[in-house]
Amino acid sequence: MKIRLTFTFAILIFILSSCSFGSLNLKDKPFETEDFLMGTVITQRVYGSNAGIAAKEATARMKAIEQLMTINAPGGDINRLNEAAGKNAVVLSPETINLLATAKEYAQMSGGAFDVTIGPLVKAWGVFTDNPRVPPIEEIQRLKKLTDYKKLMIDAVNLTAKLEIPGQIVDVGGIAKGYAGDEVIKIYKKLGIKSAYVNLGGNVVVLGTKSDGKPWRIGIQNPRAENGIYLGIVSVTDKAVVTSGDYERFFEKDGVRYHHILDPKTGYPSDSGLISATIVTDVSMDADALSTSVFVLGLEKGMALIESLKGVEAILVTEDKEVYATEGIKSSFTFSDESKEFKYAEKR
Ligand code: ADP
Ligand code: MG
Repeated sequence: MKIRLTFTFAILIFILSSCSFGSLNLKDKPFETEDFLMGTVITQRVYGSNAGIAAKEATARMKAIEQLMTINAPGGDINRLNEAAGKNAVVLSPETINLLATAKEYAQMSGGAFDVTIGPLVKAWGVFTDNPRVPPIEEIQRLKKLTDYKKLMIDAVNLTAKLEIPGQIVDVGGIAKGYAGDEVIKIYKKLGIKSAYVNLGGNVVVLGTKSDGKPWRIGIQNPRAENGIYLGIVSVTDKAVVTSGDYERFFEKDGVRYHHILDPKTGYPSDSGLISATIVTDVSMDADALSTSVFVLGLEKGMALIESLKGVEAILVTEDKEVYATEGIKSSFTFSDESKEFKYAEKR
């Protein structure tokens, strides 16, 4: 009898302890999801008891943003704005107005290197389609005239916007994923999440620290190696780490690489001497607009822009395979290049 009791008691202890181990594990193991949205793979790694709910709500939110901002499906805000180009102003949601206003700010700040009215040129090159092409120079010259953010009128009071020139097309591909990243973090916070990571095709945003209390370690992709091979690691807490690179989307013709970030001044893929630009800052929408801006501006002008902004850091990689980091990020950036092809220019 006594033996049986002890035995039952032992089993009970075992069950209880494995339960508590179980819940501990659940807490330490993230809820992970992978979705294909906004033209890219989106990974979420969320910790805490509401992790599953938070990740699902975040996915739904990103789907809604995609609907609103895509140029490919009818009915969304950006699509309606483009349809009305040269005709009339359209009423848009406050969030689209806000995103367009931010895009315009960065267009001004970058002297037009970042310009969301780049749509006609993006379409002509078709880097994202099955039939990319090098458009004839006359076509590029003609479409370049449609790329002009000053002709995107925004009325923030009445929540309307208008493209002044017929044929103008807004393409928010250079900023929308950044915005979505901020919205995802908002949802995590609302649901009490303290630790999470979301990666929207190279736009990484982290909330808090890793579950072990240490900073998140984000790899900086080697632009000339396969995916997952890094040039170094940045350690960050509560930050957006956003990269624009010529390796993300491109096609090759006659040995030339034509990539997806266009220089509004030439109408051709940006050839500024940078092959990748990473921005580290608090707001992911800012980081996204800036990564594209700096990529187009090049090393000197790009660095000057970043250094004029508070709380913004950058890691830039040149086609000569040199890596530059701003002062403020040097202590959290570890350069480590397996390929041994790149040089870290610690002093500038
Ligand atoms: P990714 O989308 O690969 O993360 P970016 O944030 O740099 O890279 O955005 C590139 C996208 O932005 C392009 O696919 C295109 O839709 C759009 N775009 C291209 N050139 C420019 C530019 N000069 N200014 C603003 N948007 C641009
Ligand atoms: Mg961008």
